[in-house]
Amino acid sequence: MGHVFVIDDYLVVGSEVHLRYRFDPSGPHSIDSEGDAQPDGPPVVDGPLNANEIVEFDEVIDFGAVLTESPEVDSALRVLLLVAGTSYYKSIAPTAISTPGLSPAERALVLGMYDGGLREFAYRNDLRVPLPVEIIEREDGPIPPEVQPNNDDVDSDPDALASGVLIPVGGGKDSALVADLIPDGVLMSVNPTGAHQHLADALGRPLVRVTRILDPKLREIVAAGARNGHVPVTAINSAIAVALAAAEGLGHVAMGLERSASEPTVVVDGVEVNHQYSKSAEGESLLFNAFGPSGVNYFSLLRPLSELAIGAAVAKRGLASEIVSCNRAFTIWSENDASRTQRACGDCAKCLFTSLMLAPFLKPEQIREQFGRDLLDEEAHVDPVRDLWSDEKPFDCVGERHETAAALVMLADDPIWSDQIVPNALAGEARSVLAEVGASPETFLRIGSTSEMAPRFAALIESLGLPQAAY
Ligand SMILES: [Zn+2]
Repeated sequence: MGHVFVIDDYLVVGSEVHLRYRFDPSGPHSIDSEGDAQPDGPPVVDGPLNANEIVEFDEVIDFGAVLTESPEVDSALRVLLLVAGTSYYKSIAPTAISTPGLSPAERALVLGMYDGGLREFAYRNDLRVPLPVEIIEREDGPIPPEVQPNNDDVDSDPDALASGVLIPVGGGKDSALVADLIPDGVLMSVNPTGAHQHLADALGRPLVRVTRILDPKLREIVAAGARNGHVPVTAINSAIAVALAAAEGLGHVAMGLERSASEPTVVVDGVEVNHQYSKSAEGESLLFNAFGPSGVNYFSLLRPLSELAIGAAVAKRGLASEIVSCNRAFTIWSENDASRTQRACGDCAKCLFTSLMLAPFLKPEQIREQFGRDLLDEEAHVDPVRDLWSDEKPFDCVGERHETAAALVMLADDPIWSDQIVPNALAGEARSVLAEVGASPETFLRIGSTSEMAPRFAALIESLGLPQAAY
């Protein structure tokens, strides 16, 4: 019997919210019955932890200004406490998770984020997928009332909510498009870097900065050999955004999560593993329901769009040169040229994918200007681009297999691009991949249904001038 992961509580101190967790060798026994106590036996060791060691964590979220508590803000902070725990839990996963009393929506969210949100981590650490989740609810603390999310209000009367919109900005093309489409939206970033600030400056708008500081003990435990990997960071940043919106009286949090994020990265024995789980439609829905009591309408403005359609819109609106869609530029723990200079590296899967989504709508010199090189004219990029439609896509925020092929076909058919090495080398293969779905490349530009969205937001998507899908 190893350690239990205890999701303890949160504490608001001025501008800071402290999230408290614990690895507890006696976790469930204090709740269940003393009859479960450990028998004398050989010591059990969880990775780098000693069998009887209690490890406490205190993560700090600094909102930069005093956070005024209210039942709405508290409900968002509860969600934050639940989802941010994935960063610590993964060191000893899978194990029992002790939580405060949960509403049905919160329970569903924990089941989703501690399995689906950690499946890439599990798969890459040779753990079982789906990752089993065992929740032990404590009887302490109030269980929040189940409040219906407010999309019905929004559909019938968007003015029933406060009209202000908060837009979490990631530095890349998706949130740049959302920010550009909602000119009066308030921009915010969690742990912003130069690239985030550059985008806000380019749009001529202030950036609200929130700082997330992981407990330094986590780094020590990982250095001592604990398992490490990807966590559902979009869920964590979303909960920070909803808490901020609730505190500031903003009625909406508009995300830039696109349709393509729902496609799994790899399927293992019939089980989907998705790097972008917390950006998927399923993840969005779990978060939307859990945020109901906050009174904030959490939604994704770009859900009806593919990455290719977003690329077309970003290029058309002149935003391409202001974005950095490169994950190496945003790594926190690993130092590299891209993270120091805040320029796209030009070699990672995300850089190559982004250049493919933009290129059909730009001239070669614009790609050269953005990345400093002709990314699609390099022999070394042929194999990595082919990987984007393989059965195991790179574990990165890349789009659907078939839309990547569609972009390649568009480039191969365009005389200003067809001579570059990547489209030239892969044209035939891309056509075969696209033939699997029998669709023309232009199909991928179509807008999906906007019926779930408030009318004023749906109108923004319809204004992009992209073809409408038949619904
Ligand atoms: Zn890159």
